[in-house]
This record gives sequence, C-alpha cells and structure tokens, in this order.
Amino acid sequence: MAVCRPQALDSEQTWLEAAQAFIQETLCPAGKETNVQLTQLVIDCVKTTWLSQGRNQGFTLPLSYSFVSVRDLRSHQRLPCCSHLSWSSAAYQTWAQEAGLSGSPLPRERLLLLGTLTDLSGDSEQEDRNGSLYVKDNTGTLGCELIDLDLSWLGHLFLFPSWSYLPPARWESSGKGHLELWGGPVPVLPLTVSTGPSTPVPVLYPEAASRLLRHSSKLRVVQRNLAGKLVRLSALVKSQKKTYFILSLGESSPAGSQAGSCVSIIVQVPAQLVWHRALWPGRAYVLTELRVSKIHGYRYHVWTTSSSSHLLPLKPECVQELDLQPELGAPLLEADPKPLPRTSNIQDRKMQKDLVRDSRLLSYTGTVTGVLNQAAGLYELDGQLGLCLSYQQVHGLRRVLRPGVSLELQDVHLLQSVGGGTQRPVLAPCLRGAVLLRGFSRQKPETQSSPQVWGASLYEQLVWERQLGLPLYLWAIKTLEELACKLCPHVLRHHQFLQRRPPGNPSLGLQLLAPILDVLAPPRVPSRNAHKEILEEPHRCPLQKYARLQTPCSFPTLATLKEEGQCRAWASFDPKTLLPFPEAFHLTSCQLNQRLAWSSICLRPSTFQPAQVLLGVLVASSHKGCLQLRDQTSSLPCLLLNKRSQPLADPQLIGCLVRAEKFQLIIERNVRSNFPSWKELSTTGFIQMQEARVYVQFLLADAMILPVPRPFHHSATSSTCPQIETESPHIGQSRLFLLSHKEALMKRNFCVPSGASLEVPKPTLSFHVSGSWLAGTQRKEGTGWGPPELKGDKHKDQKVLLIFLGSSVRWFEFLHPGQVYRLVAPGPPTPMLFEASGSSCMSQRPLELAGCSSCLTVQSKWTLELESSPDTPDVANINKALPASSLTDLLSGNSTDSLVSFSAEILSRTLCEPLLAPLQTKPGSSGARRGCVKLTVALESADWEFPPHLDIYIEDPHLPPPLGLLPGARVYFGQLEKRVSRSHNVYCCFRCSTYTQVLSFPPETAVSAPLPCIYLADLLQGGQAPFQAIVSCHIVSVFSLQLLWVCAHCTSLSLQGRCTHQGSTCPTQTSVSQANIRLLVEDGTAEAVVTCRNHHVAAALGLCASEWTSLLELVRGPGKVALQFIGPGAQPESSAKIDEPLTFFLRTLCTSLSVLRPIVLSFELERKPSKIVPLEPPRLQRFQCGELPLLTHVNPRIQLLCLSIQEPEHSSSLGTFASFC
Ligand SMILES: [Zn+2]
Ligand SMILES: [Zn+2]
Repeated sequence: MAVCRPQALDSEQTWLEAAQAFIQETLCPAGKETNVQLTQLVIDCVKTTWLSQGRNQGFTLPLSYSFVSVRDLRSHQRLPCCSHLSWSSAAYQTWAQEAGLSGSPLPRERLLLLGTLTDLSGDSEQEDRNGSLYVKDNTGTLGCELIDLDLSWLGHLFLFPSWSYLPPARWESSGKGHLELWGGPVPVLPLTVSTGPSTPVPVLYPEAASRLLRHSSKLRVVQRNLAGKLVRLSALVKSQKKTYFILSLGESSPAGSQAGSCVSIIVQVPAQLVWHRALWPGRAYVLTELRVSKIHGYRYHVWTTSSSSHLLPLKPECVQELDLQPELGAPLLEADPKPLPRTSNIQDRKMQKDLVRDSRLLSYTGTVTGVLNQAAGLYELDGQLGLCLSYQQVHGLRRVLRPGVSLELQDVHLLQSVGGGTQRPVLAPCLRGAVLLRGFSRQKPETQSSPQVWGASLYEQLVWERQLGLPLYLWAIKTLEELACKLCPHVLRHHQFLQRRPPGNPSLGLQLLAPILDVLAPPRVPSRNAHKEILEEPHRCPLQKYARLQTPCSFPTLATLKEEGQCRAWASFDPKTLLPFPEAFHLTSCQLNQRLAWSSICLRPSTFQPAQVLLGVLVASSHKGCLQLRDQTSSLPCLLLNKRSQPLADPQLIGCLVRAEKFQLIIERNVRSNFPSWKELSTTGFIQMQEARVYVQFLLADAMILPVPRPFHHSATSSTCPQIETESPHIGQSRLFLLSHKEALMKRNFCVPSGASLEVPKPTLSFHVSGSWLAGTQRKEGTGWGPPELKGDKHKDQKVLLIFLGSSVRWFEFLHPGQVYRLVAPGPPTPMLFEASGSSCMSQRPLELAGCSSCLTVQSKWTLELESSPDTPDVANINKALPASSLTDLLSGNSTDSLVSFSAEILSRTLCEPLLAPLQTKPGSSGARRGCVKLTVALESADWEFPPHLDIYIEDPHLPPPLGLLPGARVYFGQLEKRVSRSHNVYCCFRCSTYTQVLSFPPETAVSAPLPCIYLADLLQGGQAPFQAIVSCHIVSVFSLQLLWVCAHCTSLSLQGRCTHQGSTCPTQTSVSQANIRLLVEDGTAEAVVTCRNHHVAAALGLCASEWTSLLELVRGPGKVALQFIGPGAQPESSAKIDEPLTFFLRTLCTSLSVLRPIVLSFELERKPSKIVPLEPPRLQRFQCGELPLLTHVNPRIQLLCLSIQEPEHSSSLGTFASFC
C-alpha cells in the first residue's frame, strides 16, 4: 500500500479538483462566487457516506466514482443503469441476483448524484405543481420516484447514495427519463428538526368532523384541524381544470369511539399535491386549517385544505380534542341516526338475473411479475392476477412498473371471469383507489414492442372517450394486438394502424373495431364524475358492475382462415354422404370416382365460434391477374362484387384495407380416387390425391373499405403488387375508352418486339379487351385533365384492341364490358402514345376479326381509372347492359359455330370425360384425370316461365375454371361457343374469347323450389314447358325391362359375379347391378315414355328394398335378364327362356296391377330443350280398327327421364308379390 500511496494521493488530488469544479458548476447557486463552504460540505457528505459502509478498500475518497449532473444523465446515459455508492462488487452481485430469474439486472455505473429534491418541475415558482417529484441541479431537473417521502426533505440538497436511472420509454411523450431513488437520501446540510408546536393543537376527530359537515350551513366559516388515521387515499385525479386527490381519515383508536366514522378531505392546492407521495394508509395524521366548502358537481359539503394547511404526523401528546359543545349546542351532538356506510373491503355480491355482477373492492399488496402491455396499462401481478391501471391516470407510476416492483393497491376492484379471452382474475383500481409504490425493481425494463409504443393514445381513448368496461377493454386491447400482428409491419406500419389520422379521424385500428364496439358499448357522452366516484356511497364507477363478455368475434389471420377452411373441408369430406346409398349402389368404379372428383363447401362466418371477421389489404396480383386479400401471414384469392350483379370495376380499391363480416369462404375439393365400387366408400385408402382451392367471395357493399395512407405503397415490398411510383403526379396524359368486350385471361403466344431478347417466346399470361376511344388524348392540368386533343372525326369512335400482358394483367379483374375507363400514362407527354398501332406484336388477322383498326399494348407503368363522372362525354349514354343472345337462336340446332352470350344460374358442376378424348384410354383409369368441367345451367329469361337447361363444358386451357362458378351462383357467360351434339342437343364450350362474370353468389340458404305440377299435355307446348316437373299419371304398360350385372371396373357383363371381358385383367372382381325400365304413362291429357334407371326401377316395379335386393341377387346367376313387351297386352320377348321362373315372374309382375298403377312421377325431359324447339308437329297415323282403317293425328311421344316415383296419397300398396321375398 505504501508504494501506492503517492500515486493514490495524486488520484485523490485529481478527484478533488474534479469534484470542486463539478460542485461549483452544478450545485452552487448560479452567478455567485465560489462557495468554498458548500463544496467542502458536499465532499464531506460523500466521504462520510463512502466510509460508513467500511468497504472502502483503504481509500478515503470514492476515487472510482465520478460526479454526474442531471444534464449528463439525460443526454449521455442511453441505457438504464444503477449506482450504489460504497457497495462492493460482491454486494452488487448479491443485489443483482435477487433481481429475479426472468429479467436481467440493471447494470452498475459508478456515479455520484447530488441534487435538490423538489416538487417543482422547473426553475420558476409559478410553474404548475402536479404532485410529481424531481431532482434538480443547476443543469436541469429529472423526474424521480421515492418510496417513503418525508415532506421536510423538499427543497434540500441531498446526496443520493443508491439510485437507478431509466431513459425515457418509447411511448412516453415527455421524452425524459426518470430516477428511482433507493433508500433515504443523505442531506448535505443538516435538516432542521421541527420540534412541534409549543401548545397542543386543537383537533377534530373524524366523527365530530363529519357531523360538523352536516351542519355546516348553520356555522361560521372557521378553519379547523382534523386528526385521524388515514383509511383511504384516492388516485391523483387530473381533470381539465385542476389536479387533486381525496383522503379519508378514520378514528385512530376504533375502541375509543364510534367505529367506522370517517371524513373525506379534498387536497387541491398544487403545493400540497406532493402529499400524495408522503401519505401511508394506516398511519395517523393531522391536517391543519381545513375549511368546509362545496364543490362543483357534488351536492354535499366537504372538507378541503387551504393554502396554509399543513400535513403533520399525529402525535397524541401534541393534540387536544376540540370541544364543539359550546358552538353547536346539545341537540347537534346527538348520535347521527344515519351514520355514513362503513367502508368495507368486501362488498356484498348480489346475484342478478342478467348475469351482471358486482366486483369486489379490496386491498392487495403484490409484486409485478410481467408487463403485458405498458401503454395499455396492463400488468401481471404475482404470476396469477391481471392488473389494469387504465381507469386511473397514473402515467408517472407506469414508467416505474416492471417485473420486480412491489405495489400496494388500496380499494382496488377485483373482477373474476371477465370473459372475452381473458382467463385470470383482474385487479383494476378506479379513481377511488390508490396505487402505492412499495419497492423498486432491480430489472432492466424490456424493450417495448411497436404496438405498445404507438397505441398509447388509442388505448386511452377506449377508456376515457369510448368508456369501455373492463371486459370489453381487455378484449379490444388483445384484438388490437392481434390485428397489429396480422398487418404490421409489412402490410401497414404500426403508427399507420394505431395512431389517429388527421384531421381527427380515428385510427385504422379503432375503425376496424368500431362496428363491434358500437353494438356492445354505444358511444356515450363522458359521464365519469371523479368526485362522485371517490366520495359517494354506495360506490359507483365503471368497474363496479360487469358482465362476462362473450367473445364478440375474432379476426383470424388469412393463413389461419385458409387452414381452418381446409381442415373443415376435409373433415366433412365423406364419399358416402356425397354419394347417397341407393344411387351409389349401381355406379361403376369410373362413375363413382368421377362423382367424387369435385365438390365444394361454403363456410360462412356464423359457422365459426366466435364469428370470424375477414380482414386484409386488397391487392391485384400482377403474376396471376387475380385479386387477393393479403396480411402478414398469407394471401387469399378473392372474388368481389360491388353489389349484387355489379362487378368490381374501380381500381382505386387496390391497396385498401377490407373488413368483411359477411363473406363466403369457399373450399373447392379436387379428389383423385380409385374406389372399385360403393362397397369400399368408407375405406380412405382409395383416395390417391386431394387438393383444395380456397378463396373468399363477398359483396363490397357488405364490407368496410378503409383507404390506407399512401406511404404504404412505397414501403410495400410485395412482389405481386408493384405500386408503380409515378415520377410526378402532375405530369401525364390519358385517354378515355369504352370497353365492349374482354377475353379470357390465359397464356397466349406473342411475337417478341424487335430489339428485345432473342429468346424463344414462351406463352405469356395475357388478355385482350376491345373497345373504342371516346375522345382524344388529354394532358394533366393541375389535378384534373385538360381538353381532349381534337384530331378530326375519324378518331371519334375509333375501335381499339388493348393487350394486357406482363404485370398489366393485374387490371384483369377490374375491366368489364360497358364501363368507361381512363388509361393514364404517367410522365412527360409523348405524342401519339395512345395511337400506336401495335401490329408488330400481333398478326393483323385477329385485329380484323375484332373489327379494330389498331392495337395497343398497355405498358406496365400505365394505370387505369374508372370513369364515372357524369360530365364525361358520351358516358351517360352508354348502354351498360350485357349483350345476350336470344333463346330461340341459342337453342336452335341449325346454326353451329356461332358465339352465344347469356346469363344463367349454375345448377350443378361435375367433372367428366374430355369432350373429344380419344377412346384409347382404358375405362376405369380415368378416375379424376383433369378432364373437363361440366356446368349444367338454367338460362335466365324473362319470356320463359320455366328456364331451359343447358350444359357448358370447360376444358384445358381454361382450367381450372374462374373463381365462383359454383352451384347456385348466377353467372353471365359472354361469347361461349355453341355446339350441337349428334343427338341434336345444344351445348356450349369455353373459348379464348369467353368472358365470365359472376352476378351473384350462391344464396345463403339453398331452398330448392318444388317442381311444378303439370299435365303431360303441357309438355307439348314447346318452349314454355318446364325442364323438370311432377305429373300424376298412370302406368299403362311396360315396354322393356333390363336387369344386369356388370364389372364395376370395365362395365363388361358379369356372369356369376365374374367379369366376362376378354382376357380380363380387371383388378377387382366387383360387379354392380344396373337396371333399366321403359314405361308408358298417361294422365288423361297425353302419353309419355318414361325411362327409369337403377334404383328408380325398384320404385317403378313397386318393390321394397329387400324385395329389390333379392330380385337382383337372382339375376346375378344369368348375369342379365332383358324383357321386351310389344305393345300393351302383347307377349313379351325375352333374351332368356320364357319358361324360366325368373322371366315368368317378371313378365307376370310387369303386367300386373301392382306395376300398372297410378303414380306421382317426377321427371326431366330426356332431351335438353333444343329437341323441343322447334316442336315436331303432330303427324297423321293410320290405324286399323277391325275392318275400318282410321286416320288420326298423333302427337310425338314425349320422352321423359324418371327422377323419382312416389305412390299417390291414400292409395294402399297392393303388395301382391310380397310373399316373393
Ligand atoms: Zn370503483
Ligand atoms: Zn372387368
């Protein structure tokens, strides 16, 4: 040590010089001469404190410590730290280890902090005091927190031996850090010890004080001193006018007088607000010079402090009870018949019918174990309770709160099972209760997440403006956090989402919640009255009563929604349900698998619990041309309609935030399976591949559209939504065009423009529209467009073909016939930009076909705007109706190869064999090849009572079909190719030119209208006949009956259950039965031939299920039984021998009354309408009646297909052959 000594002396000298300079600059009163005395006092104080611990390592001065000023802390200390003078490293280590396991302890700095403790935030005496506490030196002030304030410390200079400094939290608007002062400060100058008053102070105890209050109107205004135990302390209330708090004094010795008496005192003098930090519930105090006054908004008189009031600890020897007897007289001193209700910790819980409960009011001491959301005032206490501080304005305290802080909560509400996703009980103080700091945390605060940083003012708005109850508030906070995770930071920035938007608009977050909050907590005029909340008995506040919240809804991420949709779609995929039994029984393997190949389900929000709300930003994919909703997790294709029958046409919707409570989540299931027959339907092993196409469809009219602030577009990194940044929004040119036709979006071949790369061109995703220019090019003038360039009449109505390829395909979903669009080219005007004849890109022939004189490739940086202003030339006169072919043209079989357009409702959608498929493919192997989609539609027509049905086929390259072609949907089909089959049925096919537009989504509840009941003669009236109907008729005779068993795999005849196919290699020997019967029916108006197949044959024969099964089993042996009956009553011809018992039985059955009987027949026409229109005229037929030849008109026979056969009501089943089985 001796060797070190001179060096140490040098260091001490340097340290002392630095100390002197620091003290002079920072602590001595400014502008005065060097204050040697103060400097010495400060150094002595530091020295004494340093030496007091005995761990000074032989140094008399803390040489490793340096002085720090308030300014230096604020400007240089960016990280939280603590400093403990005279602590050894070991002492610090022990201290730090107790910081808790979860967090890291505050790092240690060796800094000496001195300053004056004050409740003035600045230098000026006039500055508002609001109860905050500061450490002040010549360089500035810094907010501080102290556990046990002695009021006599204010205004004195202290050395703070132990403290922590925390830089400002990001959400705090003040931008200042704060100090946490551990332990008592050491005064630099000895404090004057108050000796107390020489004579005892005359005081009133609470009982007398409150009685005096009730008679205050009769008394002179006299200032009194009140004494008692502090039983309640309210929060510090900041109203617009003033800041105040209310304390209640109770009897200090309950045994002595009437228990429970207490009196409230309002403290609102700014200089006294700091008392709030010095008061400890349970301790006894004297408050001097109080007066009785009336306060605004409260009907009773209360005690208030005057500016000369003092707060003193109650020492019984220094006070003397004031005798009110002479002043008030005897009667007034009688015990009050109605004592103020006792403040009980636990209020009685009343059970109420409407599930509204009362919260419990209690006091609680605990330790903060987690910060759930600091800006929203949500914490975790003791690992099991929630703590919500939002119903108080305790911002000063909130900055201190972090794991490790211990708190005393006075008169706090306990709310249990609040619902809405919050599991644990929650403590929440209202204005009546106080949150008192009882211990600091040794942990470093955690870095805050962005939603917390930006959400602070929104959260406050929810409590103080929207006045949400706690359950709803907690749900809203949780939901906002989830929403922020869904959308931020890539889709939206946190501040864009959470902050209020100018001018005074609510934040996007609040707008998204508003529809739900409006229902659950309608906006109200602020009604919290702080005085009443604190003073009035019984207590009333927003936390007093609450009801368990049923989670109103959830905003799933798009990824979750997709996944949930797929899960449900596959969970509900049951081949046995999709193929009901009696029908499946007769299907061959190929038919079976084809029927399973495509199906769809539609999930609505109400099918989820809680209901789901769809949310995402609308983007138009420049890769796929489709519309998508996007969030952070995923993107979901969507199909939007403006409203019913109105397509989405406004490209301005791109980039908007869309929120929909009404939507349909569609899951199309594509399945490849190889079920051998119906018997294996419950075995999942036969499903080879399953994939789902998930998308949503909804009406924009049902959705909330929120434009997102522009900066989003520049920050968006999405590849599929390139928001082309225009060089300047004030330069550009545009031209209006009317769209007349749009073609399908598909891969097409294009010639490479000269000068481009020499690569072999690949088919490019693209589409064309044709239309006509409405006027010349217009230049940007300010915010509008200048007059169109006049180029003579020839430019008027000039036809044009626009080609969209590359990223321009993103406009596909917005372009619709009949709409007027403005094509905008940003940048400096280029002459003839919109005149270019792009014939280099395309052969001249299609142009000629389209009747266009020019074609133009839409460049990727060009944009589209929907033009809807009425002053646009010609726009008003445009007929927006979609072109439609006449039904007669459509259904007549004579003109082939023509293009037809119509609106129709889709009745069914199935997969089938490709139309022109070569037949070399093995039957049965075609399970679910990507064949061909067949839509059966009912045409819409005002003239036809019963809509005719038509089949539409979609084949490659138009697969998969556009979104929304679902059974129940109404769709406009433009420019389909009409074809006529060999059997003269009209059907349609998709072509490159085909345009489809969904007009309405499948209805919410698919109510299938009952089939009309008609007479058979109605069917002879041509086009007006329904395609499907019910008729009550009589079976006149049976023409033919065929029962057979076929190999389920190759459909060859099956004998004894064995496939008879030559060189049979069929994998299974499963055979299925098939049946067919042709009947003649008549209903008194006409006759019809009805074909019944499979299970309908059993109904036609009047056989029950067991009879039918037995009959089919009998046929299994011969493999096939076929009977032909020639005319009514004629002898049957049979493939089998007539005398076989089975043939004999069937022949007898078919001619018996149990078959030839009245029935109710549901049917459809065997031919699609083309065969009916034009109708064959009745032809003359010659009959021989005995000797007489008769010539009469005979109507063509109506051919019907049986849909079902019912027995007429009241007709008892004959059951003649019941004994057969
Ligand atoms: Zn309350
Ligand atoms: Zn076979």
